[in-house]
Amino acid sequence: MSELTLDTITALAKRRGFVYQTSEIYGGLASSYDYGPLGTELLRNIKDKWWQELIRKKADMVGLDTQILLHPQTWVASGHVASFTDPLVEDKVTHKRYRADHLIEQWLAKQSTPPQLVVEEMDVAQMGAFIAEHKILSPDGNPVTAPKAFNILFETAVGAIEGEKSKVYLRGETAQGIFTNFRQVLDSSRVKLPFGIGQIGKSFRNEITTGQFVFRTLEFEQAEIEYFFDPEQTDWQALFQEWQNRMWDFVANTLGIRAENLCWRRHSDKERSHYSRETYDLDYRFPFGFKELWGVAYRTDYDLQQHIEHSGAKLTYTDPFSGKTFVPHVIEPAVGINRLFLMILCDAYWEDVANNRTVLRFKPELAPYKTAVFPLLRNKPELVHKAQAVYELIAPHHTTTWDDRGNIGKRYYYQDEIGTPFCITVDFDTLENNTVTVRHRDTTAQDRVNIDQLLSYLHDQLKI
Ligand code: ATP
Repeated sequence: MSELTLDTITALAKRRGFVYQTSEIYGGLASSYDYGPLGTELLRNIKDKWWQELIRKKADMVGLDTQILLHPQTWVASGHVASFTDPLVEDKVTHKRYRADHLIEQWLAKQSTPPQLVVEEMDVAQMGAFIAEHKILSPDGNPVTAPKAFNILFETAVGAIEGEKSKVYLRGETAQGIFTNFRQVLDSSRVKLPFGIGQIGKSFRNEITTGQFVFRTLEFEQAEIEYFFDPEQTDWQALFQEWQNRMWDFVANTLGIRAENLCWRRHSDKERSHYSRETYDLDYRFPFGFKELWGVAYRTDYDLQQHIEHSGAKLTYTDPFSGKTFVPHVIEPAVGINRLFLMILCDAYWEDVANNRTVLRFKPELAPYKTAVFPLLRNKPELVHKAQAVYELIAPHHTTTWDDRGNIGKRYYYQDEIGTPFCITVDFDTLENNTVTVRHRDTTAQDRVNIDQLLSYLHDQLKI
């Protein structure tokens, strides 16, 4: 199969209603996308799986749903107001803006003998010196300005009266809502260390980079966990490894992603945030290279300490047995749902040359529609009525769709391209013997199944 490109995925996503450019009728908005009918189902399935596997199934996990607008001091305490920045350069002619680290990475990729350096370890001054030394130009071939630190927190204002409005921020990550509620969760529930709090929700970043489809957007959905523990009781390295195992298991097994497309990348001492003692990224091989999908960091007690200092609140834990009072440490696995979404689309994409078709080989649990129901002919009322009865039989149990347009071959082609695992056809034999044809997406094999056994057959096949 030829190398999969991002353009191929983007075109399919638009054509079939997974992802649309946002506000397209007004010419779109950079790095912003809407999810169509199928994309909405897929996103929901990913979030449900994450919540089910990492929160509901674990006795040591609870969930939370906090605000997008938090008290602005939250972001001062967390360090985002001072240093949530990306290195920005501007094309001196077109005034288009780029991330300096990305320009350097693109330049390095084009060199036959690139200098040995890790871009993630460079600070703004070093990037500026490197760009000047190698005369690195913008993608349009023009010189760029010296890089400067650009804060990517979005600002907005609360209040009705001009001049009296107060500045607030759209959250840059969901994690801070977890830290600021730490005391309330302790006081209102039965949790005891070690335990984790998870949350899924929108985050916002004024990203400079454009053109990476849903990999990097201004508005995106994060799924973050803060796992709190007593560093004197719990070996952080063993716990860190356990979280890496859970992350890998979720991606490789729950989502069914091929292991050869996944790898771990450890942050070096220079790259790691100052408060983190260990950071790993789980990277996926996107069409534009191995890139971060899911990060996990040992953030020590940094965040709770910062909030104690700025709020004066008692964000401590008292051990019920020993009476020891201390500030817990955390391990934080943080993933973007939209990156999981893009990964799943890319990994599922298959050009079946032998059968001249494009297939999205989703794991059945993730497929937007698990089945499609067809009457063989749409102008035969007896077939249509029988197929409607089959649809109504199935619909309460899993997502299914109806199609009576065009011939059966075209309907299969369409369903393959949106990843529907099973197509069920009601034909003239159905009227005689109450059986339907069930066609398998991946093999194109067909079974004849009695309608009385259809639900249990599908239940076994779909493994849901
Ligand atoms: P990157 O280096 O790619 O900008 P990051 O290290 O800043 O990501 P984190 O702050 O660790 O990302 O956020 C946790 C997760 O949120 C990331 O692993 C990624 O999956 C997701 N994420 C971050 N920024 C974006 C974005 N702009 N669009 C979509 N997902 C994002």
